[in-house]
Amino acid sequence: MSPARLLLMLSALSAATLLGACSSGPEQALSTLQATRGQARSTQDSSAQLAQAGAITIAANDFSSKESMVALARQQNLALSAAFTPYQGSSARIYGSTALGCIAGSVEVRESPDLKFQVWGRGRNFAHPIMAQYLNDLRTKIKAQGLPPLVVGDIALKYGGPYGPKSNHASHNTGLDVDLPFFFAPRGQSVADHPDVYIVKGQKVLPTFTPEITRLIISAASDPRVDRVFVAPMIKQRLCQLYETQPHNGFLHKLRPWFGHQAHMHVRLKCPSDSPQCLSQSPIPEGTGCGYEVQSWFMPPPPKSPSKLTQSQAKPKPKPKLPEQCKILWRTR
Ligand SMILES: [Zn+2]
Repeated sequence: MSPARLLLMLSALSAATLLGACSSGPEQALSTLQATRGQARSTQDSSAQLAQAGAITIAANDFSSKESMVALARQQNLALSAAFTPYQGSSARIYGSTALGCIAGSVEVRESPDLKFQVWGRGRNFAHPIMAQYLNDLRTKIKAQGLPPLVVGDIALKYGGPYGPKSNHASHNTGLDVDLPFFFAPRGQSVADHPDVYIVKGQKVLPTFTPEITRLIISAASDPRVDRVFVAPMIKQRLCQLYETQPHNGFLHKLRPWFGHQAHMHVRLKCPSDSPQCLSQSPIPEGTGCGYEVQSWFMPPPPKSPSKLTQSQAKPKPKPKLPEQCKILWRTR
């Protein structure tokens, strides 16, 4: 079956069975405003105009123009960067979440002199087009700072889904996740088999946590397309110590302390606006997440409170379901 026909079939199924299942609140609010004010010919033009006028809050996933990106960067207290490629739509569609989902129409991210892969297996370098643009922009940002070539780890399989039982990834299902190892590629050299480089160990900061790696983390997180970045708690702690009182520290909000992630960060992008069946994670609590939130990772766990419900009485959470579109996609691949 041709990719165009498959996409048509998947969209028909979406419309028939899942319409509205994952509609975007901010986008709807924005279009209502536009309709009322009669300003817009298209979402792209009008959101940029409105943001420039400072009239409204721009939709969190409107990456359609440089103006909307700049407005979002301002709103998120991020340092402005020239390296933004507007996302003006694509034929790619995401179904489900990064933990249980798939992607139709992914693109292959290829190596270049400024982007090298640390390879863990074949065919793990497919991405949603917005991820490909993000990586390309990050590569440009890194280069502009005089840093060596960017190293990229796992992104996603061609049609998404889990990597398989041998992998320790619980996500990377939809082309919106990427692992960025904490080392750079020596110019002109492959890093395919490069061993991991740890920059923290428990509560210890290692000499490999260099100012260049700090710049890499800040550059990766200082982007409106980024939903969150998972790093080891000690990495967040260290960056809080250095940047909590500095301007443009909105990237601290996006850094989420998590287990592992001592040798790479895991960047997750927001759902693109033209994938209405893409499920987002709950929003991060407001603020930098410094102070108690990150400190709590280093405290002993609180004593268990006696629960009135035994395990058998507690209501089991409903298991998330794999979207039907993914079953079709994987059957026809
Ligand atoms: Zn990851």
